Amino acid sequence: MTFEVSEAVAGSEPIIEINDLTVEYPSPRGVIKAVRGVSLKVYRGETLFLVGESGSGKTTLGLALLNLVPRPGRIVEGSIVYNIDGKSIDILKLSEDELRNFRWRNVAMVFQSALNSLNPVLRIWDQMYDTIESHDSSISRDESYERVRRLLNLVRLDPARVLKAYPHQLSGGMRQRVMIAMSLLLNPKVLILDEPTTALDLLTQKSIMDVLKSIKRELGLTMIFITHDLALAAELADRVAVMYAGKIVELGDVYEVFYRPKHPYTYALLKTVPKLTSIHEELYPIPGSPPDMSNLPLGCKFHPRCPYAVDTCMSSEPGEEWMAPNRMVSCHRFKELSLG
Ligand code: SF4
Repeated sequence: MTFEVSEAVAGSEPIIEINDLTVEYPSPRGVIKAVRGVSLKVYRGETLFLVGESGSGKTTLGLALLNLVPRPGRIVEGSIVYNIDGKSIDILKLSEDELRNFRWRNVAMVFQSALNSLNPVLRIWDQMYDTIESHDSSISRDESYERVRRLLNLVRLDPARVLKAYPHQLSGGMRQRVMIAMSLLLNPKVLILDEPTTALDLLTQKSIMDVLKSIKRELGLTMIFITHDLALAAELADRVAVMYAGKIVELGDVYEVFYRPKHPYTYALLKTVPKLTSIHEELYPIPGSPPDMSNLPLGCKFHPRCPYAVDTCMSSEPGEEWMAPNRMVSCHRFKELSLG
């Protein structure tokens, strides 16, 4: 059996190494295990998509990558090591000051709601200049302006119009593009984007997708997308990690995962998406609901919804099966099932 390996991954070094990461939130109903012992390498220059339904743990994993898990949530186990500029930095061991410095310069995140992320009483230029000034006082105002102008052009916004505007004077798509430009102000090596196209109309989604493609092509930085939008993944991803109940259940090159899925959950997720080439195609919602994360079932966490479940699935949770260095699935029956 041979597997596709994306160019971005082949021969590349990991820029992030996540080991055995566990994140929990206390709740009145018990402890919510949002991320359960995840290990993952992210390679320099690749575009990795974390996909899954709401509550699968993908946003918590993204926040953990910046040590930004909101309290009372906490990282209870594991390490997240960045290999940047010849140094290995465990982000979970940095002080608050070191962390502030590390974020933006090395890794930046674009959150889902651009309006909430921008300061409503400051013009866009002031917000962008403040961001540069507070992290790098050696850059002059003229240099800052030149950098801001270049980035706004990259995200296809007119600097003359946008820089003097307040956030409420811009459309949702323009604000999202401002946030993307802001995230790039300090030349980060890693960019994390949480649902960058959610809550936007279809045309705006398409224009943001084009902007993200240009960034991928022109800047060559490592990008991690957190999304349930499989169409976006199909357009942009090098690799895809499918999350379910706080774990990665399938990982591989985007072509492998989308055309030769090995996990019944990935297969079910793909059947929920319409194909552009088919007019009368039936769509199949995944039966049942995502599990209660404070009271997970025994065995495989997908077994109550899985049409292929057998007795073993109900009593024992499958481990990671590596079919190739970058191809993993976590299912007892993956060898005998023929999906896709
Ligand atoms: Fe389905 Fe069993 Fe595989 Fe889980 S381990 S996905 S229940 S076949």
